[in-house]
Amino acid sequence: MNQITNHLPTAELQALDAAHHMHPFTSNSELSEKGARVITRADGVTLTDSEGNQILDAMAGLWCVNIGYGRDELAEAAARQMRELPYYNTFFQTTHVPAIALANKLAELAPGDLNHVFFAGSGSEANDTNLRMVRQYWNLKGKPEKSVIISRWNAYHGSSVGSGSLGGMKGMHAQGGMPIPDIHHIDQPDWWSEGGDMSPEDFGLERAQQLEEAILELGEDRVAAFIAEPVQGAGGVIIAPDTYWPEIQRICDKYEILLIADEVICGFGRTGNWFGSQTMNIRPDIMTIAKGLSSGYAPIGGSMVSDEVASVIGSDEFNHGYTYSGHPVACAVALENLRIMEEENVVGYVRDVAAPYLKEKWESLTDHPLVGEAKISGMMASIALTPSENTRAKFASDAGTVGYICREFCFGNNLIMRHVGDRMVISPPLVLTTDEIDTLIERARKSLDQCYAKLKEDGLLVAAF
Ligand SMILES: *Cc1c(COP(=O)(O)O)cnc(C)c1O
Repeated sequence: MNQITNHLPTAELQALDAAHHMHPFTSNSELSEKGARVITRADGVTLTDSEGNQILDAMAGLWCVNIGYGRDELAEAAARQMRELPYYNTFFQTTHVPAIALANKLAELAPGDLNHVFFAGSGSEANDTNLRMVRQYWNLKGKPEKSVIISRWNAYHGSSVGSGSLGGMKGMHAQGGMPIPDIHHIDQPDWWSEGGDMSPEDFGLERAQQLEEAILELGEDRVAAFIAEPVQGAGGVIIAPDTYWPEIQRICDKYEILLIADEVICGFGRTGNWFGSQTMNIRPDIMTIAKGLSSGYAPIGGSMVSDEVASVIGSDEFNHGYTYSGHPVACAVALENLRIMEEENVVGYVRDVAAPYLKEKWESLTDHPLVGEAKISGMMASIALTPSENTRAKFASDAGTVGYICREFCFGNNLIMRHVGDRMVISPPLVLTTDEIDTLIERARKSLDQCYAKLKEDGLLVAAF
């Protein structure tokens, strides 16, 4: 099969893809009719496809290519490490320099006393680790009945059985017997869709207090932890009202519930600080990391753990681990990524230049008739599409119909912007220049115009009642 190359005609690659490759989160029969888009190269923030289109990747792959594509230093770091020590495990009382160095670097970057890391191959695996770690923590503290983990509907924590159960995606739960026992979900702080007549502040408090209600209902002696993304990513870049996180922190403290911040998207500069927990001013006991940790150049994730949790877990053998926990090549790539982020002050660039500029331009989209609210935290942002700007109305069509139409126009205009239902989301590489932000906004606006015209033409500009 080594004759399958970038140089084959697109249709041939698409046919071979359809014949043998099952895509994630995709209806494969539908895709094989249409043919998958074949991406052949990437540099900076720009992808090239097999037809020669140059596409601005405003999603940084899947929210992960924080330092942009095409950094030779990471390729060199991987090649060097593969030559020196391509693989060794960290089970059975062994270690190696890349894992040692990355763990030390992460302890230095992470806030508070999150000084310990348990490595995994992905965010899903890291959340599976967390699930087991918090239960084992309470076991070792003599409270084995504290096993329930509270999460939120419409959260995304990964796609394995454990992490998918922690997540609150009903479409995922419906397939494959999820959630597993002892996971409890409360409502999300999405004021735009669910806030009704409440002010955002009152709504934020009400949604946070659902955590307290759940703890009291389940019994304080039954609840192990609460897990949440500082900003919900895959759920639609949902930023909680300002009242939400202080109340969550108060409740976790009051009832001694471990707080797990899933930083898989928010971590490594995305919100304008190293971690979203700093932006939201919360003190997690455990942080999930992945994606931006290596800027997606190598698969790696992990759990950052507080001194206290690490010392309790460390008091007995933890019967858990992955073949690729602390994979030396992935660790070397992540280290090089973090070196570049520090040396080029990427987080400072986001905070002082890129995010303020993007915020101004992004929020200007609210003057478009199709756009209700615009939300942004650092370099992740969303707009709610609506048939009637001033009422927060939803479309009469099935959720996602309009979002999908809009996304297809974006593709046509060489912009990758994703839709979550009828919300459009972006999460571009953090190194996006202000000129590239202008291009992004120009293409987004053009796509919105085309979408608006199309909805009018097809009679879809109708509100649900
Ligand atoms: C992507 C994501 C995950 C899962 O990470 P994988 O590497 O895909 O397993 C977990 N949590 C959040 C918040 C994510 O965005």
